[in-house]
Amino acid sequence: MLAAPLVYATPLRTRFRNIDVRDGVLIRGEAGWGEFSPFWDYDDVESAAWLRAALESAARGWPDPVRTRVPVNVTIPAVGPEVARRLVLASGGCTTAKVKVAQTGQDVGAEIERLEAVRDALGPDGRIRIDANAAWDLDEALRRLPVLDRAAGGLEYAEQPVPDVADLAALRRRQHVPIAADESIRRAADPLAVRRAEAADVVVLKVQPLGGVRACLDLAEAVGLPVVVSSALESSVGIAAGLALAGALPELPYACGLATVHLLEHDAVASPLLPVDGTMPVLRADELDPLADLGADGATTARWHARFARVEGMVGRS
Ligand SMILES: [Mg+2]
Repeated sequence: MLAAPLVYATPLRTRFRNIDVRDGVLIRGEAGWGEFSPFWDYDDVESAAWLRAALESAARGWPDPVRTRVPVNVTIPAVGPEVARRLVLASGGCTTAKVKVAQTGQDVGAEIERLEAVRDALGPDGRIRIDANAAWDLDEALRRLPVLDRAAGGLEYAEQPVPDVADLAALRRRQHVPIAADESIRRAADPLAVRRAEAADVVVLKVQPLGGVRACLDLAEAVGLPVVVSSALESSVGIAAGLALAGALPELPYACGLATVHLLEHDAVASPLLPVDGTMPVLRADELDPLADLGADGATTARWHARFARVEGMVGRS
């Protein structure tokens, strides 16, 4: 049995994904807490996977982990070089940085400055990856990647530089920076197309949009490529599910994108899940307890209760 869902809402410290407020539902079951927080541009049908993830966390819990801590990256939004440098130095010991590029209104000069600042702050042994969120076409990506690779002093990989799977594959053949697929997995009808087309070296998996920790483990096995687990900008309750996936993957060669709670003004728990020495702990679903005050007003609470009920009606309680 699930208790009544709690609703959280918090401003973001930095505008991200074109939103200023993050909100969602927390549910409690026999195994612990789960988070249901599809962004508002996901319809009810797409949100069903997010609910299956929350129900897994709350009702069933997660598979046994094979590691106790997970290396994580610091995320650098499309900020200037001084802020980028400060974010790296304040990251809790992260030695990998994911740098956002292809921001509307910014030219390549701003990206070069940002990457140079991040390299300077990380030192020569740090790893730098970029995320273009599918913003370039193939020609643009072929022009930009060598320039950004040089500015970064070597890129670990480029995440979703182009939207199309065939273009990802072409890009991978025509230059040497490794390619990671994110949107091509997460919002695609056929996530295995990436593997068939040999379109990526790495796949980014997110627990909520892909329907839970076990669903992601199955997908990882089917795709057969190294996995980077990333967040959907959740509270620590949702982040814990990402850490459970990262903790249970047989191999974990790359740092994960789970150090995102600091982007929220207020977390849903008293002790936010943040990196220490560049790593985060793998927990059980009953090891985090939400705060009494989760910051949601009456209208937000009502909107989420209605959404939760609609999607729950589709998915059914398992
Ligand atoms: Mg991405």
